[in-house]
Amino acid sequence: MIVIMKPGATAAEIGAVIRKAEQMGLQTHPIYGENRTVVALVGDLTSITRESFDALGGVLNTVRIQESYKLASRSTRPEDTVIDVRDTVKVGGSPVVVMAGPCSVESRSQIIEIAEQIKEAGATVLRGGAFKPRSSPYDFQGLGLKGLEYMAEARERTGLPIITEVMREEAVPMVAEYADILQIGARNMQNYGLLQAVGKIKKPVLLKRGISGLVKELLMCAEYIVSNGNYNVMLCERGIRTYETATRNTFDLNAIPVLKQTSHLPVVADPSHGTGLRELVIPMSRAAIAAGADALIIEVHPDPDKALSDGRQSLTLEEFGVLMRDVRRIAAAMDREIAVLPEAQAHLNAAAA
Ligand code: PEP
Ligand code: MN
Repeated sequence: MIVIMKPGATAAEIGAVIRKAEQMGLQTHPIYGENRTVVALVGDLTSITRESFDALGGVLNTVRIQESYKLASRSTRPEDTVIDVRDTVKVGGSPVVVMAGPCSVESRSQIIEIAEQIKEAGATVLRGGAFKPRSSPYDFQGLGLKGLEYMAEARERTGLPIITEVMREEAVPMVAEYADILQIGARNMQNYGLLQAVGKIKKPVLLKRGISGLVKELLMCAEYIVSNGNYNVMLCERGIRTYETATRNTFDLNAIPVLKQTSHLPVVADPSHGTGLRELVIPMSRAAIAAGADALIIEVHPDPDKALSDGRQSLTLEEFGVLMRDVRRIAAAMDREIAVLPEAQAHLNAAAA
C-alpha cells in the first residue's frame, strides 16, 4: 500500500503518517519525489483499510500496490531514479552512461592501460572483475584483493569510478571499500543473503538478471536490496538461456522497455554477455540504447585473443571507438546524449563559450 501525500505536505504531516503506520506494526519507506512524497507501507496489510490514512492531514489518497515488488515499482515512484556514482556520473538521467573494461583484471598494467584508453574513447565508468564466477573451477578465478587494489589505482589515475563484482556476502565490506558500484552477477541474482547484505550499504549496486531469471524475479530480487534500505539499484539485462545456440545467450531486448515501464530503477544493458560474440556487440549496443537503456556495460580488451576470460565477446579498443561513435548517434536520435566526466564537460563548455 502507498500513501500519496499532497504536493506541499509538511514534514510533520509525513511524520504523522509514518507514526500511525508503525503503530499498526507496518514498516515504512518514505520516497521523496520531485513533485510529491509517497510513504510506502510494507508488512501484513490484510486488516488495514485505505481509510485509515485517507483522513490524515496532508494525505491525497491511499493506493494498494498489486505488484510484489512494491518499492521497485513505478506505481510507487513515477519518476525515474537517478543514481549518483561518486558525484561524477549519474545513471538513470537523460545522459546514457557507458561502462567499459576487461572481463577480468589480469594485471596492474593491463587495467591501468585499458582505463586510460577507454577514458580517451569516452567511457565514464571502468569495469573489471577481481572475483570471477567461472563455470569451471579450473579456469582463472580472478586476482582477488590485488585486483581490487589495481582497480583503485586505475581510478586514481583516470578519475573513472569503478564497478566490480562481489560474489559472497562475507566479502561485501571488503569489495565496498574499493568499488563505486557493486555488481551482483547473473549466477547470484537470487542469492538472498548477498542481496540483503548489499541492501544494508549505501553504495550503488548493479543487479544482473539470472541466466534463467524472469523479469519479475529480477524485480523481486531488486526489491530485496531496496527494502533493506539501499535504493541505488541498477537492473541489468545480460542475456538469458534459450534453445538458441547461434549466440552465447539470447539478449532480451524486450526486457529493456518492460523494466523501464514497470520500475523506476535505471536499466543497464550488457550486450557483451548478452551475445557472447564480439561482432554482435556494436549492433546490440545500438539497439539497447534505441530501446531505452540508461547505460551500457561493455567488455573491452587490447588483445581479446589473449584475454583470460570472455575474449570472444571482448571488443578491441579500436572497435570500442566505433561503438562510442555509433551510440552517440543513436542517443542523439533519441534526444539523449552520452555522459561525459565533469572535467571533460568543463572542457566542452569552455570550447563552446
Ligand atoms: C561479468 O560481468 O564478467 C560476468 C561474469 O557477468 P554475468 O554475471 O552476467 O555472467
Ligand atoms: Mn565477463
